[in-house]
Amino acid sequence: MILLDGKKTANDIKEEIAVEVASLISAGGKKPHLAAILVGSDGASETYVNAKVKACNKVGFQSTLVRLTNDVTEEELLAEVEKINNNSDIDGLIVQLPLPKHIDEMKVTETILPSKDVDGFHPANIGRMALNLPTFLPATPAGILELLNRYKVETSGKHCVVIGRSHIVGSPMSILMARNSNPGNCTVTLTHSRTKNLKEITKTADILIVALGKAEFVTADMVKKEVCIIDVGITRVKSDKTKSGWKLLGDVDFEKVQEKSSFITPVPGGVGPMTIAMLLKNTLVSAKKYVY
Ligand code: NAD
Repeated sequence: MILLDGKKTANDIKEEIAVEVASLISAGGKKPHLAAILVGSDGASETYVNAKVKACNKVGFQSTLVRLTNDVTEEELLAEVEKINNNSDIDGLIVQLPLPKHIDEMKVTETILPSKDVDGFHPANIGRMALNLPTFLPATPAGILELLNRYKVETSGKHCVVIGRSHIVGSPMSILMARNSNPGNCTVTLTHSRTKNLKEITKTADILIVALGKAEFVTADMVKKEVCIIDVGITRVKSDKTKSGWKLLGDVDFEKVQEKSSFITPVPGGVGPMTIAMLLKNTLVSAKKYVY
């Protein structure tokens, strides 16, 4: 079994980005600049945004964090997005999700300029992804492709089963694994909460990508030998064995499933760190005007 080490790979990518930033600057260019909008004070969102800002500093990017209160109106939020759209110094903009219920998330996503949409959630960028055109790929699926690529996991002709059909992970992942590209060229089955006989399907997977958000859902009897497992899930559960009183679990029963796997991502330290690294990569690509 080979562990797909997302922590190490993400650090390698960050070092590569830092080298590129230094050479941009020494050639007289400016620092890539990522802006993030955070609405409210949800603990998890705060943690994610802080990690993104910290990662920007680490690679030499400029970052701007716009904090808005929970009672901000949709109109006010859209005005902030427009302000950043029109600021030519800013290369990438992310709006941390989820947003309060009174705000239409899709309207906000659609207001971000596709050329600054480094989360890759804008319908124009999703369309470009489906057509295999240059674009900003959503960060988590892009991180998974990068792991498969760097660890030379063979994907062509394989059966890839994806569990979960969210707009940010499962659906784009199914499109990417089916594209005529490398990684890609898989025969893909996308499964979800209405899928019947899930176990029969997962047992036929050469590559199993799991993104449903239920701790240790995938058990050893659901997979075949030599499977490649990508575990996207992150669930925080109470633990009396850690200092914090919490631990993170993936969607896969790691201990049992790893014995049958050819490759597997751990949780934490697998897909999670890759997501931030790919957000930085998208921002660098935007600053270099490689897509738009
Ligand atoms: P989501 O929570 O929006 O949706 C869950 C999906 O799972 C749905 O499509 C649903 O149909 C499917 N599902 C639910 N129960 C199922 C069942 N019994 N059988 C088959 N399918 C079922 O999905 P999400 O936003 O992609 O999040 C999934 C998990 O991934 C969460 O734990 C989340 O925290 C994590 N996540 C991690 C990262 C990362 O960077 N590592 C990024 C995004 C999400």
